[in-house]
Amino acid sequence: MKIGRKLISVILAVMVVFTATVLVQRYFETKRLYALFNERKEINALKFKQIVEMMNKKLETYVIEITYWDEIVKAVESKDIEWFKSSVETTILTGNDYSAIWVYNINKEMIFSTGAKEKGFEPDFAISSSKFDSLLENKIICHFFIETPKGIMEINGAKIYPGSDPARQTKPRGYVFAGKLWDGPYMTKISAITSDKICMYPYNEIFLKDKSDFKEGIISFIHVINSWDNKPISIVSGTSQYTQLKAISDAFAKDLFLFLIFAATLITFIMYFIIKWITNPLNLISETLKKENVSLIKGLLKDKSEFGDMAQIINQFFKQRTELNEKEERYRMIFDTANDSILLMQKDKFIDCNKKTLELFGCTREQIVDKAPYLYSPPIQPDGGDSTEKAMENILAAMTGKPQRFEWVHRRYDKSTFDADVSLNAFNSGGKDYIQAIVRDISERKKAEDEMKRLNNNLEEANSELRNFVYIASHDLREPLRKITAFGGILQKNLKGALNSEDAENLQFMIEGAQRMNRMIEGLLAYSKVSTTTHLPQNVDLNVIVSQLQDFELSLMLEEKGAIINVPQTLPHVEVDPVQILQLLQNLIANGMKYQKAGSKPEITIVSKPAPNGMVRIEISDNGIGIKPEYQQSVFIMFKRLHTNKEYEGHGIGLAVCKKIVERFGGKIGVESEFGKGSTFWFTLPAPCDIAEEALAEV
Ligand code: ADP
Repeated sequence: MKIGRKLISVILAVMVVFTATVLVQRYFETKRLYALFNERKEINALKFKQIVEMMNKKLETYVIEITYWDEIVKAVESKDIEWFKSSVETTILTGNDYSAIWVYNINKEMIFSTGAKEKGFEPDFAISSSKFDSLLENKIICHFFIETPKGIMEINGAKIYPGSDPARQTKPRGYVFAGKLWDGPYMTKISAITSDKICMYPYNEIFLKDKSDFKEGIISFIHVINSWDNKPISIVSGTSQYTQLKAISDAFAKDLFLFLIFAATLITFIMYFIIKWITNPLNLISETLKKENVSLIKGLLKDKSEFGDMAQIINQFFKQRTELNEKEERYRMIFDTANDSILLMQKDKFIDCNKKTLELFGCTREQIVDKAPYLYSPPIQPDGGDSTEKAMENILAAMTGKPQRFEWVHRRYDKSTFDADVSLNAFNSGGKDYIQAIVRDISERKKAEDEMKRLNNNLEEANSELRNFVYIASHDLREPLRKITAFGGILQKNLKGALNSEDAENLQFMIEGAQRMNRMIEGLLAYSKVSTTTHLPQNVDLNVIVSQLQDFELSLMLEEKGAIINVPQTLPHVEVDPVQILQLLQNLIANGMKYQKAGSKPEITIVSKPAPNGMVRIEISDNGIGIKPEYQQSVFIMFKRLHTNKEYEGHGIGLAVCKKIVERFGGKIGVESEFGKGSTFWFTLPAPCDIAEEALAEV
């Protein structure tokens, strides 16, 4: 059941219980009132009875009084009608409310009867004498009702005795019956005394019905009047209005009505606010979660209630989930588009892999997920080790936290094999241990490595042959040249003066040619030595090299040319062969001093600049003749010269050697020049490791 409905049910239940309590309370109150009502009913009936009895007492007293009187004894015995008329009739008609009187002698003969004529009553009937004895047996006075044509009459009767027999033990002398007609005025009188509305009806069962009405506060009682022989002859009903009871009952009804109105209004209000404040927001939240549509709770986001907070949390959740999905998608893309096979392992089973894996192993995802790694390896590795054992060793080592990298022979699904470079990394995510395996197909690289090995061997052979050739060239070729120079010199000396000037000049050309040839071979030898030298690279301070050149190798030339070498900032260290760096700087500085306009004073400036990839850049600038742009590349080619020997002496080997030295250490060389103004030769060389690391840290 939904929470809104539950709340409404609870409220309804509370209201029902509350209403039931009110009704129960009202039930007991009504019961109490009802008891009060009945009690009042009984009191009214009793009161009526007592008043009627009290009224009758007067009649009784009269009857008793006149039946104990000597004069009436006499009048009865003498049948003195006149006496009765003057004494009894006057009393009845004037002093009392009696309607009739009958006097009988001892023989039960009626000797006198009279009625209240002014009230329209005539005692035109007699009391049946046969009943006298039974009515008055052992009684001083009898009391009964009879039905007369004028209505119901209440009668009291007694036997007559002389005054000398107050105990009434002698023989009675006659009988007196006095009656009181229960007519309209008498009823009105009783009504006035009892405060009830007294009505009289002929005896009929339909009048026996109790007319009391609790709700209306009407109290009614019934009094049945019986004749002398105990037959019901009339019904007297008394009715009165119990106003307080009606007021209380009305107040109850009003209270209940008001309470129900109040309860209904309260329930309506509570239900309205439950729907507005609880059911509606809950439905929106529920729909949002079901349909995953955050726009449904847009209106709730600014709500200050707990539902507003919930809406914000849900909104945040969906936002984060979208971001997470995007992130997940991005990582999935990286994972799937990776050029290497990436596999995820848990314990000793693959649990996921990327697309490249399926391509590399030639299988479907189902064929690899949940499978053990050794299924994708041949039983034995090239070193003779068991694949399963070796794989487990590597996995266990990776699980200790040490990333593993090794070469491995893998087996595709079709059983063909390939060489792979495998990395294993362990990590923990969500409390679970995983191993990530990156498998790179190195078949091509292996082939290339083999090919390179083969080429290196060839190169080594070729180099060795070259070294032999250079050795031969340097020794065997230079030997005849030395002889030409030496014997040319002897000839020049011996034939001095004997040769004409043309022959002497030719002999000089021959000696100089042999000398140049010798220097060229020396240059070649120096060039070849660059790559064949076996000195290991070491940390070399360029400032020391420049100082050495200034003080020794180039000191003479500097002096001759009056040249200056500027080093504005301290030069860096480089990781090279110290002999070759000396040769490199010497060649470049010497060229800067050599290629100058006649008479100009050479000025060389050496600076260093930062270079990428752990290199340093050194620039050597001069104020010389410069190089035209079209020749700036070709000056590094062996034997390439831009001038004749007459202009500037040289052999075109220096810059080729420089290039070879720089390239040997992984550097580059070049020239920037403005023709006629000067040149800047630059080169890059590796910085020592510690310096490169510092530079990297600064970056
Ligand atoms: P060499 O100096 O023996 O001729 P190099 O290989 O050192 O051989 O130089 C090649 C050519 O480059 C030189 O002949 C010269 O024309 C040019 N050259 C080299 N250095 C400079 C320089 N600093 N200024 C102008 N030209 C230069």
